[in-house]
Amino acid sequence: MKVLIVHAHNEPRSFNSALKDCAVEQLSGAGHEVQVSDLHAMDWNPVASAADFGCRANPDYLVYALEQRHNYEAGTLAADIAAEIAKVQWCDLLILNFPLYWFSMPAILKGWIDRVMISGVFYGGKRIYDRGGMCGKRALVALTLGGREHMFGPQAIHGEIHTLLRPLLQGSLGYCGFAVLPPFIGYHVPYVSTEARGQILADYRRHLDTLDNLEPLRFPSLGDYDDRLMPLAR
Ligand SMILES: Cc1cc2nc3c(=O)[nH]c(=O)nc-3n(C[C@H](O)[C@H](O)[C@H](O)COP(=O)(O)OP(=O)(O)OC[C@H]3O[C@@H](n4cnc5c(N)ncnc54)[C@H](O)[C@@H]3O)c2cc1C
Repeated sequence: MKVLIVHAHNEPRSFNSALKDCAVEQLSGAGHEVQVSDLHAMDWNPVASAADFGCRANPDYLVYALEQRHNYEAGTLAADIAAEIAKVQWCDLLILNFPLYWFSMPAILKGWIDRVMISGVFYGGKRIYDRGGMCGKRALVALTLGGREHMFGPQAIHGEIHTLLRPLLQGSLGYCGFAVLPPFIGYHVPYVSTEARGQILADYRRHLDTLDNLEPLRFPSLGDYDDRLMPLAR
């Protein structure tokens, strides 16, 4: 299997970076090919702008998604975007590794999604969900956070963790056709003991070893919707 890890932490010695290193070691050790896009090390530019396009379909008015399509077809996307798209096209499994920021992902990773997961390749028209451009690939989200596990759940103070992550799990990854595996979550990371953090790494190794047994999250199937994406009467 070919694995791309997109890593978004600003401190190479962080626990979150140790989680990324753990995945590289575990997956390589199991014979898989692994590439890492370490966004901070790459000084990744997260801002979607006109500078991303070498030639414009419409030089007078920027419609970002239309220019994504046009420039992909013309081979004139910015080199950093084109290189990341090629890595995603190469991989069978995409891992997004990050610390939770404000119930969401860090801006540098959001900017990777905005600029790399382009219209016309990842999605487009009705090429979404089980007809999305990334069908056949899997995705895994691995994150660390400060909150305790009991703070997340149906009756818990912050609600369900999957609800927090829905924009990423469904709105980005599922929407583009990835089979999205259950996320791996390291809770309360800065406040637990070194031994407890060691246990989180051991649990992550086990999660990675059993990926094939994990049931992907359920998202809409286009077969259940009509041409206007209204639910079919059953
Ligand atoms: C802007 C912002 C927004 C945030 N929003 C949220 C939020 O909405 N909800 C929430 O719950 N949290 C939130 N947080 C907290 C954040 O998610 C956590 O602080 C982060 O995920 C902890 O992981 P880390 O890798 O950064 O920890 P670090 O502080 O880097 O690491 C914790 C400890 O682990 C040690 N360590 C490093 N490597 C290892 C290893 N191999 N084995 C054992 N120990 C090791 C480190 O030395 C350190 O002492 C937010 C933080 C910020 C900055």
